[in-house]
Amino acid sequence: MFNLNGKVAIITGARRGMGRTHSMLLAQAGAKVVVSDIDLKECEQVVEEIKNADGEAMAIKCDVTNKKDIDQMVKRTIDEFGKIDILVNNAGICQFKPFVDLTDEDWEKTININLRGYYWCAKAVVPGMIKQKSGRIINIASIAAGQIGVGFAGLTHYGASKGGIVAFTESLALELAPYNITVNAIAPGAIDTPMAAASKTDSKVLEASMARIPLRRMGKPEEISSLVVFLASDEASYITGDMIVADGGYVST
Ligand code: NAP
Repeated sequence: MFNLNGKVAIITGARRGMGRTHSMLLAQAGAKVVVSDIDLKECEQVVEEIKNADGEAMAIKCDVTNKKDIDQMVKRTIDEFGKIDILVNNAGICQFKPFVDLTDEDWEKTININLRGYYWCAKAVVPGMIKQKSGRIINIASIAAGQIGVGFAGLTHYGASKGGIVAFTESLALELAPYNITVNAIAPGAIDTPMAAASKTDSKVLEASMARIPLRRMGKPEEISSLVVFLASDEASYITGDMIVADGGYVST
């Protein structure tokens, strides 16, 4: 099960947090992985860890708001690994700010990284996937994406970007289905990464959010990465245009 031998995966925002564990678990399943992020040094550390565990990986600096970076990442991946089978759109930012204080710059920054970055990366890999008539695009959304009855005060810009990702996923899946390319989204709840660290510094905020999670704990990054590996695998070949929620039961409350 979940054998990715011979597959090549690109993961964005992979120097830490979930991007790091997506890279580790995809490599463990046999994929050659491209660990990309703004900070090359930390990507190289992830690559080192993968290589120490007998995996194959390469670090590439890529800011997803920079089209040139994305094109170079795609070119280098094809030069070194021959093709791209899996794109994990994961890079993102999340800055709590009340709507009344939100500036145009805050809005644009979040939308440009979280939504346009996913579009640009997909745009860069899809032509190759169409040619090879196979591919997997996995978009990391959030339970803040909307449509499931859960809103988050202070996250209007973040929620809008994540909602856009889900809509993008559904429509792109239809267009790419004839080429045997699946496109899916994952909506994590509260996952214990540096991004979520801010909520942990305030014990009252932490207590309140844990009280809403039926499993009474944050998720571990690996608990999302295992879903990434599944969606990248042959076992998930009949799943497309879908969003899988992994939130410890949060949206069921
Ligand atoms: P994280 O630990 O902050 O990791 C995200 C990575 O993306 C960071 O290394 C970040 O670098 C990088 N990044 C930011 N802007 C970038 C850009 N322009 N180009 C390339 N990389 C960039 O966050 P995480 O919790 O692992 O989140 C991963 C994904 O899951 C995100 O899309 C997030 O929205 C989503 N998510 C997280 C949670 C959660 O509870 N943690 C819940 C739902 C969804 P910098 O540190 O320099 O910004």
